Amino acid sequence: MSLDALPPLRDVITSHDLGARKSFGQHFLLDLNLTAKIARLAGDMSEAQAIEVGPGPGGLTRAILAEGAKSLLAVEMDARFLGALEEINAASGGRLTVHRGDALEVDETALLTGPGDKVILSNLPYNVGTQLLIKWLQAEPIWWRRAVLMFQREVAERVVAQPGDKAYGRLAVIAQSRCDARLSLKIPARAFTPPPKVESAVVVLDPLPEAQQFKDVTALERITASAFGQRRKTLRRSLAQAAGQAGTSADALLDSAGIDAGSRAEVIDITGFQTLARVWRSAYEASRA
Ligand code: SAM
Repeated sequence: MSLDALPPLRDVITSHDLGARKSFGQHFLLDLNLTAKIARLAGDMSEAQAIEVGPGPGGLTRAILAEGAKSLLAVEMDARFLGALEEINAASGGRLTVHRGDALEVDETALLTGPGDKVILSNLPYNVGTQLLIKWLQAEPIWWRRAVLMFQREVAERVVAQPGDKAYGRLAVIAQSRCDARLSLKIPARAFTPPPKVESAVVVLDPLPEAQQFKDVTALERITASAFGQRRKTLRRSLAQAAGQAGTSADALLDSAGIDAGSRAEVIDITGFQTLARVWRSAYEASRA
């Protein structure tokens, strides 16, 4: 059987009794035009090892394989889908491997050992989407060529936000310190079965050239968590605790970074946060010496 000859997803859901479970954040995409559009955002996958988190009944999974991915590793927590996914594997000529487990715990680099570039595609479970993105951004080095990720729209907007935007915060600074990130597709709630309460959007992330990537994500997280955790306060106040942890004052930190201590986090651009993270790291190391 070929991928085209597989039964419609709705029939698969009925025959395998795959009703969506809220606890696993399950909202299925059954529109094949839409899944094909998302899969195409990954670019040429003919030499790629693709990875998908949460294949569920396999709508996007089929599209990734139909778009020609050389191989696909799907990580799924809910064992109910394994039968339907095995049918897709057979129809794809054995290109699909399913790993049952929690994507937050999986070491992808240990599972994807073959040659070829790695691409991540996922209609992410909303409850762990941000955590998974942070995990992939923290990898050193970043092992994937591109990530095509569907989030709830509000989270997608936070990933691509610019200084001054309402959505600008920790996620934008961390994501854009390592990647070029763009919002590629908005998807209405009614496209899903069952429809979630909010709209969704697909973000495409391409790692920046190695030399342009900011490496000290831990320091960046520390600084942005403080700065945006109290975003109404001036940086002099919101960074006081982080500065204290590095044995210095917020004023000294901001002065070394060339940033006005009376400004608020939302106006500081990504380079500004990177400078702050560098200065914080030096002070922190000096305080331990
Ligand atoms: N890809 C399918 C689609 O587009 O129709 C399903 C997407 S649904 C939003 C999220 C999927 O992720 C579900 O299949 C769910 O069981 C799975 N899932 C939830 N949490 C997970 C985790 N921590 N690790 C792996 N899979 C998870």
